[in-house]
Amino acid sequence: MLGGIEAGGTKFICAVGTGPDDLVKAQFPTTTPDETLAQVIQFFRSNGGRDLEAIGIGSFGPVDLDPASAQYGHITSTPKPGWANFDLVGAVVKGLKVPVGFDTDVNAALLGEWRWGAAQGIANAIYLTIGTGVGGGVMVHGQVVHGLVHPEIGHLRIPHDLAVDPFPGNCPFHKDCLEGLASGPAMEKRWGTKATALPADHRAWELEAHYLAVALANLTLTISPQRILLGGGVMQQPQLFKMIRTEFAYVLNGYVRHPDILDHLDEYIQPPLLGGNAGVVGALFLAAQEAASAEFENILKSHDQGRRG
Ligand code: ADP
Ligand code: ZN
Repeated sequence: MLGGIEAGGTKFICAVGTGPDDLVKAQFPTTTPDETLAQVIQFFRSNGGRDLEAIGIGSFGPVDLDPASAQYGHITSTPKPGWANFDLVGAVVKGLKVPVGFDTDVNAALLGEWRWGAAQGIANAIYLTIGTGVGGGVMVHGQVVHGLVHPEIGHLRIPHDLAVDPFPGNCPFHKDCLEGLASGPAMEKRWGTKATALPADHRAWELEAHYLAVALANLTLTISPQRILLGGGVMQQPQLFKMIRTEFAYVLNGYVRHPDILDHLDEYIQPPLLGGNAGVVGALFLAAQEAASAEFENILKSHDQGRRG
């Protein structure tokens, strides 16, 4: 039995199960680490308990994913009060005493979509969420990418023509990075109205499609993904996908001459399939990976003991 946690800035979604069709789920508001983790631990004690083989966590970040680092498993520099430098993996290990897999929320969502959703069979894929923030997970050769830290696609720098769009951007670090220009709150600040209240033919969507298309073109040029999934609240606007695809083709200007881009752009850039479950089922997948690697370690250990004995 496996457990998954999607640790978000507003809520923690917890689940026990084996995939999107077999899930017992609950969610808890993200308040203080102590209060939220107490609810999370209680949920897994009552659901699975000692039968849990492993737990996976897809977390908001930035996070430390380097197993050799003293801060491994911590949320690092979040402005969210109380959560900076919090040892999330440590708290779950301490509370439940099971192996814990750990990755970013967006890498987890991408793994979920890869295993059960819109990226099945696609070994090089990108998942972007455009919501309160903008974030992205990257898979190359079937592995989600970690490196120095992990990709931070939400903060890509985008050409910003102040004559066309005088809004300075609202990222606390960069002002007019992708998130600063194209997140839901950026739209709301720029236009002085809720993004949900902007009519479908408002110029806001043209500008939004432009910024996202430029970011996607840059990603296609650097990573060469075979598919890009766009999720998050802002992508609930049905007109956006078509606008982004058109602008993406315009920005690339015929340069990447692959049939998936020239003839099948509606598959190349498409919505995720698992909706709100992507992150938490991706966390289950991280748990399965962790359980497998713990099992492997046990086999090696008993082999060593056998040789010594
Ligand atoms: P979060 O990013 O907090 O996990 P969401 O992905 O739902 O949550 O993103 C919330 C943001 O998305 C809000 O800023 C809101 O303005 C925007 N949003 C939500 N629904 C819509 C919609 N139907 N159309 C446009 N924007 C939306
Ligand atoms: Zn930024």
